[in-house]
Amino acid sequence: MEYIKAFEKIVEEQLARVEKLNAAGEMTDYSKLDKTVIGIVDGDGIGPIITASCRKILEVLLADEIAAGTIELRDIKGLTIENRVAKMETVPEDVLAAIKECNVLLKGPTMTPGKGDDLPNLESANVKLRKELDLFANVRPVSIPEKNINWTFFRENTEGEYALGSQGVDIGDDMSIDFKVTTTAGTKRIAKAAFEFAKNNGNQRVTIVTKANIMKKTDGKFLSLCYEVAKDYPEIEVDDYYVDITAANLIKEPQNSRFNVFVLPNLYGDIITDEAAQIQGGVGTAGSVNMGSKYAMFEAIHGSAPRMIKEGRGAYANPSSIVKAAEMMLRHIGRIDKADILIGALEKAMGSLNMTSDDKGNTTEEFTSAVIENL
Ligand code: NAD
Repeated sequence: MEYIKAFEKIVEEQLARVEKLNAAGEMTDYSKLDKTVIGIVDGDGIGPIITASCRKILEVLLADEIAAGTIELRDIKGLTIENRVAKMETVPEDVLAAIKECNVLLKGPTMTPGKGDDLPNLESANVKLRKELDLFANVRPVSIPEKNINWTFFRENTEGEYALGSQGVDIGDDMSIDFKVTTTAGTKRIAKAAFEFAKNNGNQRVTIVTKANIMKKTDGKFLSLCYEVAKDYPEIEVDDYYVDITAANLIKEPQNSRFNVFVLPNLYGDIITDEAAQIQGGVGTAGSVNMGSKYAMFEAIHGSAPRMIKEGRGAYANPSSIVKAAEMMLRHIGRIDKADILIGALEKAMGSLNMTSDDKGNTTEEFTSAVIENL
């Protein structure tokens, strides 16, 4: 029967993927690196302006580490629409090779050609980088200081219902079946990423979210493997909730302020992080980061703002979002003290600045100086 063959093919493909996952390396332990290389990718539009601002701030903030050679800020040029189109490559080979020489990336926005741009239909550079660098964790922080809420979501980015999203099977006209995949290696690595983050940020509580009472195999595996990984972190408090009650608990005050780090399979992560972002003030207010075991990519949440450049307002671009991404990057590489200083300086500077993105407000240069003064 045809659908049995289709199922066989799916299982074979997934087993091949598992083999690759099993061969993948351990999470980078930044405390053991002699040097952490931060690649700064400028991107398109206002990208070069905001990344240059952020670079200047990091040069001051990390002056001691840079002088001692434990941190290097390395510029990666060429991830621009002009170069990508000239080479007809989503991420030109030499740029990708340079990126792979870094440990973490601070990336400016890159343009994805759309209808009406009159450009070749290149794939999104981000999607390509996510695949090339195996960035399996989508990490989203949500912070509401006045409610004492400080959440970080670790959403698995490659498995669950999404692994075979377009490979479901129709059994005639009467029935359709989709598949959900949970692998041991895929689960262990997202759990480890969440627990490592919790450890590096003052042993925060970790909450595992599943629907393991219903999806007994896939979510059951996810839940039990997360608890298995938890054994390596005896100092961290861990518990678990079903996804439905998690959705309810996020809006239940003041209990919601007692959650810190969440680890979730792909689909629940997709839904719950949008709910959490809405609680923070809207989906546009949430940043997110893609990370893998070897690499991690930190970015501003907005795009390249082409109209600002066209209208000559580039000098008024607001680098706040990429500076916040840099704060997350510093936490990721274990420089918590520097991350705290950076976010403190940003918040203080923003109190005295008015970034309107035109000549009625402050310039990017004034922003940069104000943050540096407050470091
Ligand atoms: P956009 O975020 O570039 O712009 C939306 C609006 O916000 C515009 O009015 C813009 O002027 C303003 N804006 C954005 N960032 C700003 C900043 N730092 N300071 C002041 N004003 C700012 O969104 P868009 O117009 O939909 O996208 C433009 C391009 O960016 C597209 O090619 C898209 O593919 C790309 N994009 C890239 C990424 C990424 O690389 N991660 C993300 C989103 C969009």
